[in-house]
Amino acid sequence: MPGVVRLSVRNIRKSFGTHEVLRGISLDAQDGDVISLLGASGSGKSTFLRCINLLETATDGEIWVDGEQIRMVHKAGKTKPASQKQVDHIRSELGMVFQSFNLWSHMTILQNVIEGPVHVLKRPRAECIAEAEVLLEKVGIADKRHAYPALLSGGQQQRAAIARSLAMKPKVMLFDEPTSALDPELVGEVLRVMRSLAEEGMTMLVVTHEMSFARNVSNRVVFMREGLIESSGPPQEMFGSGASPAFRQFIGHFGAPA
Ligand code: ADP
Ligand code: MG
Repeated sequence: MPGVVRLSVRNIRKSFGTHEVLRGISLDAQDGDVISLLGASGSGKSTFLRCINLLETATDGEIWVDGEQIRMVHKAGKTKPASQKQVDHIRSELGMVFQSFNLWSHMTILQNVIEGPVHVLKRPRAECIAEAEVLLEKVGIADKRHAYPALLSGGQQQRAAIARSLAMKPKVMLFDEPTSALDPELVGEVLRVMRSLAEEGMTMLVVTHEMSFARNVSNRVVFMREGLIESSGPPQEMFGSGASPAFRQFIGHFGAPA
């Protein structure tokens, strides 16, 4: 449903001790938006994603997922989520794919994919297996369903991790440098899966250094610098004459994007 706001972040801040890593970030993702989050190492991109899915607790600000605000309590100078039940619910609505695949090594690929739907969502196992098979087909590794992660290439493991996230039917997918740990020849197969997800209308927030993805797949580019959004806009503007000097300098390090 285009127009529906799936994720809304209002002025979030995050400090580690005296170091303020996020200094007031606001961002809305509507249904089907694919937002590339770019920025130098240390600019706060991972912390931002981790605050959204509550792996970290923002020190201040508001986060809304699919119209529901994450409730926080402020006590003795600390901020934490008010309800673990809500945290679990919000997490089930947000898929997260990390740089380092994070599959369970003692489970086959199929077991990895059905684990969440069966044990967290308590859905019937046979139904979850049938859906998992479809997802594995979609990411191109159906033939690996009974293999253990260690037997797969990095690109196959990352595609399995994407399938595992999708099995929870998330409202928004968060990706934190999903291709940064891969050998260059395996990057394309993961980007293709992400591109087809985007084309199907998945709402995605993607931290990446893949300028071709940012330029050709996302419909918005957000450039973070030192814990703030320095500039943002459609890729045509950001990669065209509308770029800020800081963003221009940043992309200069990557050469001309394809
Ligand atoms: P990016 O993903 O853009 O490279 P990060 O969000 O990982 O940036 O980190 C932003 C800043 O926050 C860095 O200076 C980093 O050292 C600091 N930081 C991140 N996580 C922690 C933590 N758990 N404790 C203390 N400092 C942290
Ligand atoms: Mg990071």
